[in-house]
Amino acid sequence: MKETSRRSFLRQFCAAGALALKGMPNLARAPIDSLSAPGKPAPSSASRKKFVGIQIGAISFVDEGIDKALDTVQRLAGVNAVMISVFTYSYGSEGRQQPGQFSDHGLQESNVATFHGGDYATVHPEYYRNVPFGGFRAPDLGSYDVFESVIPKASARGIQTFAWCEDQATPRYVTGFERGAEVDVHGRGTGQMCLNNPYVRNFFAALAEDWIKSYPIDGIMFGSERQGPLDNAIHARYGRSHGPARITCFCGYCTQKARAKGIDVERAKEGYQALEGWVEAAESGVRPGDGNFVTFWRLLLRYPEILAWEQFWSDNQHELYALIYRAAKSIRPSVQVGFHIWHSNSFSPFYRAEQDYWALSQSADFLKPVVYNDCGGPRLAEYIRNVHSTVFRDIPSQELLDWHYGVLNYKGEADLSELPSAGLSAGYVAEETARAVAGVKNQIPIYPGIGINVPTGGGEKKARPADVRAAVRAALASGASGVILSRKYYEMHLANLSAAGDEIRSLPSS
Ligand SMILES: [Zn+2]
Repeated sequence: MKETSRRSFLRQFCAAGALALKGMPNLARAPIDSLSAPGKPAPSSASRKKFVGIQIGAISFVDEGIDKALDTVQRLAGVNAVMISVFTYSYGSEGRQQPGQFSDHGLQESNVATFHGGDYATVHPEYYRNVPFGGFRAPDLGSYDVFESVIPKASARGIQTFAWCEDQATPRYVTGFERGAEVDVHGRGTGQMCLNNPYVRNFFAALAEDWIKSYPIDGIMFGSERQGPLDNAIHARYGRSHGPARITCFCGYCTQKARAKGIDVERAKEGYQALEGWVEAAESGVRPGDGNFVTFWRLLLRYPEILAWEQFWSDNQHELYALIYRAAKSIRPSVQVGFHIWHSNSFSPFYRAEQDYWALSQSADFLKPVVYNDCGGPRLAEYIRNVHSTVFRDIPSQELLDWHYGVLNYKGEADLSELPSAGLSAGYVAEETARAVAGVKNQIPIYPGIGINVPTGGGEKKARPADVRAAVRAALASGASGVILSRKYYEMHLANLSAAGDEIRSLPSS
């Protein structure tokens, strides 16, 4: 299908979705699979109407066998697209299972201690001439090339293949890493790649070019689970806080670009160092006379460069998204390029404000907002704990959670004491899906990420089949054009995978 006619088709397809939102009995019934590259066999009728993706690591194909793994995900869940984590240094995307949280397939063991990560496809050097990095070929599986091995078999089954790529790397494994590293407010190199650095940008564009030219992939999904210096400084995240080392980026490329945009770099540095001191004082537990929030706000008034630098960082991140999109589409217009939107989008109003769905949709063929509701409970509780240690320290934690429920538009969710064990509801999935669909004005498909057995702590919410089915139902009833089962096949229990498939197969048009 030509690009222009594809766009036209998409508009018609999305108009159907808009009607459905107004009360039509069904949603987005257009055959999304017709967007795939020509020559692909039609998928089974049970999965023709919806995009059913699953994130899967290369190691699953090695441990279980390609045919068995593909057969399992297709037969149980109606999967018609595998999102293979081909470039990642994250154990959450590649690797086996968490110690003590084994699923019921694959090897009943963890390889977290030996996990390395990198590129699980062959690196073709001709695409990396403008890149100073080396050593990023993943050694975990020897010379195994996941695309070369899997794509022919997936294609024969009518399953599309997407490259699932993340923007992080383990510095000690990548030669030349320091040439692309972010620099913090004190001038120290960090373990994060600067998304404004031209070598880093060349690198991700080169990865896309290599994959598209070397393999008949159907698409790329890129993810950046990172945020700017203000959000990092005030610990507005779930999980472990990374501390002030993530007040970035003040590398030469960023400072030069910021000056060209009229941002006072020295004032930004001064403001962030003042903010760093403020955070340390807040964490000491001594309440300033005017309170923690008021003194925080005073800093923003005195140093508007703090907000300017946060926006600058976020703009650079999204510029990289657009660059990857343009690079991929210029090589093969039919390749589908979309973006994984980090779970913090669900918890942090600060991060959410930076994820403008309409702006993101201008350089994307689809978006995957993370709406993992089971682990969403523990994660939201962690977020509240973290942000309560800084700007919201003066507010009781339960009131702070209630405030977030109001601001983020969540209804009927658990109190803080119950939240980690209760998880978030299917109503949250529906709300976040509808918000994304409306945000992109139905111009591109939304494939919410449905969390299945994403690891949680002892006593915290574990996914059951009824939960998974309710989450899939909520997403599809709220305008989603499909789902992406997440975060990796290896940790999903088969009964939960079947539950997702049961819901998809129950759709009237399936
Ligand atoms: Zn930089």
